[in-house]
Amino acid sequence: MTVEAHKETLEFKAEVSQVLDLVISSLYSNKEIFLRELISNASDAAEKLRFESLTDEQLLEDDPNLRVRVLVDKDAGTVTVSDNGIGISRQEMIDTIGSIASSGTRQFAEALRAAQGAAEQGDADQGGAAGEELIGRFGVGFYASFIVADNVTVISRRAGLTAEHGVRWQSDGRGSYTLETVDKPARGTDVILHLKDDEKEFLEPWRLRTIIGKFSDHIAMPVEMEKEDLGDDEQEAGEDKADEAAKAPEFEQVNKGTALWMRNKADLSDDDYKAFYKHISHDFDEPLAWAHNRVEGSNEYTALLFLPKRAPWDLWDREQKHGVKLYVKRVFIMDEADKLMPHWLRFIKGVVDSDDLPLNVSREILQHNRKIDTIRGANVKRVLSLLESLAKDEPEKYQTFWGEFGRVLKEGPAEDFQNRERIGGLLRFASTHNAEDTQNVALDAYIERMQEGQKDIYYITADSPAAARHSPHLEVFKKKGVEVLLLSDRVDEWLVSHLHEYKGKHLQSVTKGKLDLGDLADKEDQEKTEQAEKEHEDLLKRLKDSLGERVSDVRVSTRLVDSPACIVVGEHDMSANLARVLKAVGQEAPDMKPTLEVNLDHPMVKRLEAESNQSRFDDLGMILFDQAQLAEGGQLDDPAAFVGRLNKLMMQMFMSGA
Ligand code: ADP
Repeated sequence: MTVEAHKETLEFKAEVSQVLDLVISSLYSNKEIFLRELISNASDAAEKLRFESLTDEQLLEDDPNLRVRVLVDKDAGTVTVSDNGIGISRQEMIDTIGSIASSGTRQFAEALRAAQGAAEQGDADQGGAAGEELIGRFGVGFYASFIVADNVTVISRRAGLTAEHGVRWQSDGRGSYTLETVDKPARGTDVILHLKDDEKEFLEPWRLRTIIGKFSDHIAMPVEMEKEDLGDDEQEAGEDKADEAAKAPEFEQVNKGTALWMRNKADLSDDDYKAFYKHISHDFDEPLAWAHNRVEGSNEYTALLFLPKRAPWDLWDREQKHGVKLYVKRVFIMDEADKLMPHWLRFIKGVVDSDDLPLNVSREILQHNRKIDTIRGANVKRVLSLLESLAKDEPEKYQTFWGEFGRVLKEGPAEDFQNRERIGGLLRFASTHNAEDTQNVALDAYIERMQEGQKDIYYITADSPAAARHSPHLEVFKKKGVEVLLLSDRVDEWLVSHLHEYKGKHLQSVTKGKLDLGDLADKEDQEKTEQAEKEHEDLLKRLKDSLGERVSDVRVSTRLVDSPACIVVGEHDMSANLARVLKAVGQEAPDMKPTLEVNLDHPMVKRLEAESNQSRFDDLGMILFDQAQLAEGGQLDDPAAFVGRLNKLMMQMFMSGA
């Protein structure tokens, strides 16, 4: 194999310097995290090598003790984070470190541009704040180096390649970087930070030791630093310079280096958990809550699961990887083991360490493994318990969780039949019980407030909270003081098509089928409606004929109080809202013929009934129908025709002097 020995200069993607400036300014007050980020990367690289060496022992060469080292060179003004892990090949260098397009940074830049767009619209504060807010969601990883360094060099050699396949990457983070081939006898990666003039404090070993103790104490990889000098007086007086130079430096481990999850809960503080969370998640925020369990018996394992405080940028990305880290007997096996956590809990971070799985477990084996299924089932239950106690004991925190991840949890009932009821208990909705649109009403709270004689849990789905709240369908519920849940997230349609009941109560859409208020409807009302249907048979028939193919039926409404008409779909039809959602994302939705319900007490309907001129009757009928669609947030097939009819009507009104 030939080695490309040339040196080349490559351009960063356009947004890099912009992103770096932001990284530097928003993390400045917390700059020591650069070390955590680099140690995390180094330890990940060492863990990957340990895993690959299980099947290819040669990769370990003659250096089997995996570790991370932090080295200081006061004369050169550099701090180096060095690992003997998997290393980075030239191409990987271009694809990962070189192209900020990897990790979340590109998306970060896009989000940042959007935020700055907002800032240019005149709201400068919001743009700046959004920048800081954003950064926590992305995790800058390697680029945190530039908080303290004005020049960064990465020298790496991939395990398994020969020494002359080393690569040297260098950049000042200002638009371009150089890449050249170098000899690197020792496998792994050195990240060399040339510190800025005012960051020389990081040349003090005690300072670095403190930071390592704070952030990296409990990672499963030893972090070493050079043994401290014992002082001049203990040095051999006769030692000559040459001797000293030849003496290999001695290293000592400065972190505990034991996997945090294997330690006793009683010995761990909240701060220990928080620091560990940041290490595995690359999140700048603290976790909202966590659960740490050791399971003994025929399937022994430890699970440490964290609930983040904020949603990551790619929560809605279909390609998003999710899942917890899988270890087998303390050996890292894989990131994002999605078999251990279902998709509807994709926001959970953590570690599962099994004592019983084989070390050579692959993703394929995970697919069909009873032990894995058991662990996954137990993980789901643990997360549900964690959420339940959060909801009960710390409702404010739960509300934070719900705001970030509620829409993901709403996927649960469709995906997990077994836990449907428990997930149901964790759901929160906006409701007519409250004036604000916050999703904070639990189904249990709804049930407690149900009226005497009320059988069902009522809800409406619509495009927006306002459209839901102001729908004509709610009028009779308002009048009777019956609470209705207001659903306006896209996923809500999906949710209610799988969650048909909760604690024995049926979930009923108020826009579907004939309204059956059960014992809530007074007998008198019902009889009145039936009688009205007969008395006004002519009007109903005439209207139906006039609207023709547009409707399947026209009937007297029991739902309306103030509005003249509304649209209703069949009990088992797709809701008009779902049909709209599907069309909006370019999917086919069946063309449904709805039923038009009219309010006989409304003056417009009375006026319609009295209309003898057929063409004016048709116009009025169409206006009624179009209005009913608009009131639901629907779109008209021919809006111009609607406006034309309305204008015609208004002109007639003006001319008659009304
Ligand atoms: P992230 O870790 O979030 O993916 P980084 O910018 O920190 O983002 O790193 C980008 C990628 O560069 C990593 O995913 C990894 O593939 C590679 N990398 C970084 N540091 C090392 C290292 N010390 N050894 C091997 N690969 C590394």
